[in-house]
Amino acid sequence: MQLLIGKTALITGGSRGIGRAIALAMAAEGADIAFTYLSQTAMAEQVATEIRAMGRQCMALQADAADATATNKVVQQVIQAYGHIDILVNNAGITRDGLLVRMSEEQWDSVLNANLKSAFLYSKAVATHMLSRRQGSIVNISSVVGIFGNAGQCNYAASKGAINAFTKSLSKELGARGVRVNGIAPGFILTEMTQELPDELRAQYLKDIALRRLGTPQDVANLAVFLASDKANYITGEIINCSGNIKS
Ligand code: NAP
Repeated sequence: MQLLIGKTALITGGSRGIGRAIALAMAAEGADIAFTYLSQTAMAEQVATEIRAMGRQCMALQADAADATATNKVVQQVIQAYGHIDILVNNAGITRDGLLVRMSEEQWDSVLNANLKSAFLYSKAVATHMLSRRQGSIVNISSVVGIFGNAGQCNYAASKGAINAFTKSLSKELGARGVRVNGIAPGFILTEMTQELPDELRAQYLKDIALRRLGTPQDVANLAVFLASDKANYITGEIINCSGNIKS
């Protein structure tokens, strides 16, 4: 049985990596999909074509997730086209790594805006709609770095630690009217974001992962599908690691 029949999902950053895998996995479970991206139009169109070939509807929308006007426009467009949004996945994210002493204000602001402000804007834009329907599932893509910290990633870690606190707080605001909010904290997942890591660092990470393999976008997508589905109806305010049990 498909888990998301009759539902519509809005996913930020669906053109590549984890967001792409989530969009495809949710479509495979019967959901109609809308996803955003920043600049990779060709990749986004390819994902949309794959989803439509599965018999699902798909909208690929270019919109900066940190821009309030664009965010509100996306949500309105999706509600107008599909009638409702059942699932929001706040996935769009970037890294701009560097040690704090050398980190520019631009590095700090761009990461906090893309990773954290975006979740605030999209959650706010869908919250009233979900509350009025007394149902909905918001899934925020965090990171184990938001729990453990990581040298060279003060900006990224701060954005993900804040996403965790945001997730827990929002679950308490929306829970009474049936809207659930959860987070996924992936470990080391093979995507463009991580492909530039030097081989020796990769080998070291492997030693620190109980399952002795790096994660795939599909590993994260499987959990996102579950959290978005009615199978997770009594789960809210949780941050669930999807990391093969990586050591802190
Ligand atoms: P990725 O391969 O670099 O893909 C990022 C996606 O986000 C792309 O679709 C990109 O669009 C979109 N995006 C970036 N900035 C955006 C913005 N301002 N507005 C709208 N879309 C934007 O990244 P990923 O590895 O799949 O990561 C996805 C999420 O998982 C992020 O939140 C990341 O922090 C988290 N995560 C990843 C890992 C990992 O190991 N990969 C681990 C833990 C957590 P374009 O294609 O148009 O650029």
